[in-house]
Amino acid sequence: MLLSKMFVPTLREDPSDAESISHKLMLRAGLIRQISSGIYVFLPLGFRVLNKVINIVREEMNRIGAQELLMPALLPKEPWDETGRWDVYGDELFKLKDRKGRDFCLGPTHEEIVTLIIKNTVNSYKNLPILLYQIQTKFRDEIRPRFGVMRSREFLMKDLYSFHDSWDSLSESYKKIFNAYKKIFDRFRLKYIPVEADSGAIGGKVSHEFVAESEIGECEFVVCEKCRYAANVEAAKSKLIKPEEEKDEPLELVHTPNIKRVEEVTSFLKVPAHRLLKSILYIVDGESVLAIVRGDDEINEVKLKNYLKAKEIRLATEEEIEKHTGAPLGFTGPIGFNGRIIVDKRVEGIKGGVLGANKKDYHYKGVSFGRDFESEEIVDIREVKEGDLCPVCGSPLKKKIGIELGHTFQLGTKYSESMKAYFQTKEGELKPFIMGCYGIGMARIIAATIEQYHDDKGIVWTKEIAPYHIIIIPLKEDEKILVDSKEIYKKLLHGGFEVVYEDRPLSPGEKFKDADLIGFPYKLIFGKGYLKDGLIEVKRREDGEVFKVKPEDIEEFLRKEIYES
Ligand SMILES: [Zn+2]
Repeated sequence: MLLSKMFVPTLREDPSDAESISHKLMLRAGLIRQISSGIYVFLPLGFRVLNKVINIVREEMNRIGAQELLMPALLPKEPWDETGRWDVYGDELFKLKDRKGRDFCLGPTHEEIVTLIIKNTVNSYKNLPILLYQIQTKFRDEIRPRFGVMRSREFLMKDLYSFHDSWDSLSESYKKIFNAYKKIFDRFRLKYIPVEADSGAIGGKVSHEFVAESEIGECEFVVCEKCRYAANVEAAKSKLIKPEEEKDEPLELVHTPNIKRVEEVTSFLKVPAHRLLKSILYIVDGESVLAIVRGDDEINEVKLKNYLKAKEIRLATEEEIEKHTGAPLGFTGPIGFNGRIIVDKRVEGIKGGVLGANKKDYHYKGVSFGRDFESEEIVDIREVKEGDLCPVCGSPLKKKIGIELGHTFQLGTKYSESMKAYFQTKEGELKPFIMGCYGIGMARIIAATIEQYHDDKGIVWTKEIAPYHIIIIPLKEDEKILVDSKEIYKKLLHGGFEVVYEDRPLSPGEKFKDADLIGFPYKLIFGKGYLKDGLIEVKRREDGEVFKVKPEDIEEFLRKEIYES
């Protein structure tokens, strides 16, 4: 296509509201525009890239025998009531009413709907397993949309659902889908890592996230470079190190005037941070719950929330702390606390500890777990830290961040049971379907590719999803240049290449700037050199290498470069 006829509104300057490199470059290269917070238009170039992403994902899903369908985005409330998720999903669910006052939502995911379809159509083990997927728009009312298309309120997803008659069958499909995901992200040439994940609100047992390595991103995970153990922080475990043998000390109430924060208390009482036990009051579905970790640890609220199987969890306000403990913020502790107490595993067995006394300006010291306070709920609620030891091999763990590209879950019977979706077994029994669900965020693949493939000039597209592979740039208003470059352009078009011709009245510098910003993998340059030796200068974007190619060899050269390497 002629660039002058194309709708490619590039920007010279970085947009001020874009935080991440991919967001900036997608705006600058004319791939997307924002319509409202977290809502984007894919402009023609961006839409070409998106379609290439869709095609690759679709190919690999079809290859493993998954079948594509299309479910609606506008969903009735009733199935969501059956699973309880109409309430559990919270404010992220876009809810609306029709003219008759009936409740609907804009689907953020489709477990309920696909379960409904299977419930009404499949009744025998003979029809299982079934793998159904769609590539469709999802909605989520994000509190804070971020990083452009990476965390937006409307987004395109591939979501696959599988239905089985046994856990073995689910495991088998899970493995197959897991491998298909690896193949997909390999085809995109992304650097990624599958990490063990927490199945959180969706429920279920085994779960993985596929995370693209990146400077930005909202997935925090740990990885062991020795044995490749990897897990996101909500699921990560670490090897429990036994505390040194400590001696019982007498319990003592000590005056700690206006001393509240961890560092203040530890330096005032001259105890190491791990001896101070942090007691944090949460309001969990309306009830007060005290959670205790060591002073050198942090609570991971997702772990706590999952353990409690809570719908909503939040820190108690200062007023609520006074009401439930009798003391202001900073002096909370379990001794004398009347309510549920959750203790982190690393707190168990501690002696000579320090705790808030539930009394203004007082702490206890010499606290022994088991003697002075107790809890039957000793669970892993701490956040794994850099340097913690790998639960598998004991090597130090590294903490990283990245972009979640996809997620796979073994759901089990959570949805089929609550929606009474049963099938008949070989023996004639009625059993709930065993399910799995598997998502991939389409636009995130684009954003992650740009995060991993760019330089200071712009995007460096991989051949797999570049909007076009080739741009022809005539540098001079010279007749031979114009005639010959047009001829090559026509020849490449006929040869089936994805090629763009730069015919805009711009300076050579401006032409190069835009070509590099948009990130065409190959530039065919017709300038002084061509007039001298009749060779086309081909510049490869990914490494800047320059090739001189005879016009009659150009097709073969490009075919090898683009399709055979
Ligand atoms: Zn390890």
